[in-house]
Parts: sequence; C-alpha cells; structure tokens
Amino acid sequence: TLQTPRPLSRLPRFLPFSTNASITLNQADSLDRRIAAGEDVGPLAGVLVAVKDNICTADMPSTGGSRILEGYRPPFDATAVKRAKELGAIVVGKTNLDEFGMGSTTEGSAFQVTANPWDLSRVPGGSSGGSAAAVSARQCVVSLGSDTGGSVRQPASFCGVVGLKPTYGRVSRFGLMAYASSLDTIGCFGSSVADAGILLHAISGHDRFDATSSNQDVPNFLSHFVSASSFESKPLKGLRVGLIRETIGDGVDAGVISAIHSAASHFEELGCSVNEVSLPSFSLGLPAYYILASSESSSNLSRYDGIRYGNQVYADELDSLYGSSRANGFGSEVKMRILMGTYALSAGYYDAYYKRAQQVRTIIRNSFTEALNQNDILISPAAPSPAYKIGEKKNDPLAMYAGDIMTVNVNLAGLPALVLPCGFVEGGTAGLPIGLQMIGAAFGEEELLRVGHIFE
Ligand code: GLN
Repeated sequence: TLQTPRPLSRLPRFLPFSTNASITLNQADSLDRRIAAGEDVGPLAGVLVAVKDNICTADMPSTGGSRILEGYRPPFDATAVKRAKELGAIVVGKTNLDEFGMGSTTEGSAFQVTANPWDLSRVPGGSSGGSAAAVSARQCVVSLGSDTGGSVRQPASFCGVVGLKPTYGRVSRFGLMAYASSLDTIGCFGSSVADAGILLHAISGHDRFDATSSNQDVPNFLSHFVSASSFESKPLKGLRVGLIRETIGDGVDAGVISAIHSAASHFEELGCSVNEVSLPSFSLGLPAYYILASSESSSNLSRYDGIRYGNQVYADELDSLYGSSRANGFGSEVKMRILMGTYALSAGYYDAYYKRAQQVRTIIRNSFTEALNQNDILISPAAPSPAYKIGEKKNDPLAMYAGDIMTVNVNLAGLPALVLPCGFVEGGTAGLPIGLQMIGAAFGEEELLRVGHIFE
C-alpha cells in the first residue's frame, strides 16, 4: 500500500472570488447581474456543481438514467439544487448513474458507461459514478449524488474523492427521484473534506416540501476548520475511534485491509484511541437492505406508467399501455428489483421477507447506537475492493450486491458517513485509490467533518 500525503487537498477549492485570481470571469448571466448590482453573492458563487441525473433540474433534462424518462424536463428544481443555485452555484451538467440509482457500477445506465478517471478500463463505482468521476477528473469542483445504500460513498472510494452521506432527513429529498424513500439521501462529492462540507451546509435543513426533512438546527459544519487545532501535535486527543471488526476480515482485499490499518495508525498519531468493535449483526445488512430497497422501489416506480411521466408506448387498452410503456422503458436490473420487491410484499410472503427485514433493521440500528455510545466515530473500508474492470460483474448481480456490504448498514441506521481517500493499491497507471469510511452519530456531520479534515 502506498500512502501518499495530500497537502493540497486540505485547501478548499472553492471561493473563486476571494482569491482575486481572475480579472474577468465568464459567468452565468444571473450571477453576472448580481455581481454588477453589487449584491453579496453567496458562498458558492461561481462554483461549478455537477448534479446526478436523478435529481430534478428545471433547465436541463433529468432522466434518472432511464429510457422511460429520456428527454423529460421537470418543471422545478430539486430543493438541494435550488439552494445551491441561490448561493451562487452554477450547475455544469447532469451526471450519469445506474438507472434510478439501482446499481454499483454506473453500467446500469440506459445511455452510456462511465469510466474511472484513474483507469479508464475500470468502473467508477455507482450508482453516482458520474458525479464521482466528474470531481475526480476535475470537470467540476463539487457534485451532488444520492446515497440509498452507498451510492455516494462507494464511488467516492473508487474515484479517490471525498463523499459525504448525511443523516437521513438532513437534506430535503424534494426533487430526488424516489428509489427507496426510507433510505434515500442526497449527498456531496468534493476533492477535499472542506469542499464536500461547504456544499452539504448549503443544501441542508428543513424543507416544507419534504415531510421527512428534519427540523434539527444546521450548525456551521466548518466552524472548527479555521481553528488552530489541526496544527497541534495531537489534534484529535481523546477521540474514541472504533474499527468495525466485521469489515476487515474474509472477503476483503488485502490491500484494502492494510490501507485501513494504516489509517488506524494515523488516527493514533493524531491522539485518538483506536479499538476494534464488533457489530455481530453487520452481515445481516445486505439481505435486509436488498429486500427493503426492492420493496420500496416496486411501489415508488409504479408512478412511471407512461401517462404521468416520460415515454409512452401507445396501446388501445389501458393495461397494455402501462405494460408496454414499462416493458420498453425500464432496463433489466430495474425490472428485476420490481419483481423481487413485489414478491417480498405480496400476501403470504410479507411476514417472511419484508417484516423480517424490518426487524433486522431495528437490530442493526440498535447495534450502531450501542457502538456509538462507546465510540465517537466508527471506521471501516468504504468497499471491500478497489475499482474493478468494466464488465467484470455486469452479469453477476449477486457479486455486485456483495460489494455493498460496507455501506448499506449505515443507510438502514440512518446515520451520516464520510468517505475519504486513505491509500492506494497497485493498478491502473497511478495506483487505485482506497477509501476510508467514518460513521458518526445521527446529525453529527459537524464532528465527522472536523475529524475528516484533520485526518486528511
Ligand atoms: N448499490 C446499491 C443498490 O443498488 C446502492 C444504490 C444507491 O445507494 N442508490 O441498491
């Protein structure tokens, strides 16, 4: 494992105006007008943001990566997009994804395959692979993704960027195409912890258009960043870090395990105590997640009926119109999820699958609460392997699902988590990045960002 220092990544890449680097800026006109009028442009002024294509934008098509919504233009901006724009952000583009967020490689898009900037023959991860690749390839400063079971964190890990999944309810889901509503979150990518944190701060907070968005105060996530603490010799003195034992065992690449052990040593150098903590229910997360996510998606995706949204395949009978529009519009992974979900929810099977998975979810949530009583943060790899080859798992959905083992539990528990690069393994031309996942207590984003910034 090659551990490389990343001194530049500590600097936010934001704040294009405060550096006075440019004489003339080629701005989007609305920002130009605001600057000309002497208005105080927001903290994201001129910052180029890319947005995952399952997040609605009024001035650009929003397809969710699906044929069924090809060319669809929503009449409104998602709340997260609206807030970022109000603070001056410029949306540069809509990024590729696995159809409706269902996948871990971005190969499940109906339109194109996205490559990993570290090695173009490898996947960028998914489902927010386009948003991760865009930041990694420096096509934008920050980007928005969605994370239902790891779709921000795993691609951040594969592409060597920072990925931040907020607490469930921290960011409004209004305008995010629903996949599994009880797990869906909008998250942020950046090339530093600060960048991801600034964007998250901009989009957080209660929204009357999303009843599940939280009323919790949104503290200034970055208040600790300017303090001298990161220059002290033991800036994280007293912090209790729990390394989740179940995440560094069988089935995890040796290079990943060794990068996580070096990260643990780095925490110790910074003054933390690091102890292994066991979450015995950890491996139950995957089956429970796939039952719950498929069940919720089978219900959420019923809205794509060829009448209310998107593309229609005409038929004389209403039922055949629905059937042919959906048969034509959805890809195979989405159809499989709808079938699995419908099965798990059907009378006679509900108790054995859906109800059981909900019970497992409670067990998992409780075990995290307990572990977070004894530890300030929990750490694990973000994925069991680095980025793999395009096509490698395309015809083996179970192998692809197994790669989500590190992330899905966090969604089931509704907790915030930050992923940041912590090392490299051999591969590609410059090595392949490995991501460290830090999991915090509910609404503990401020602490996660402080720790992440000092660690980085
Ligand atoms: N890979 C997981 C899935 O396919 C997670 C996706 C996500 O977080 N949107 O369901």
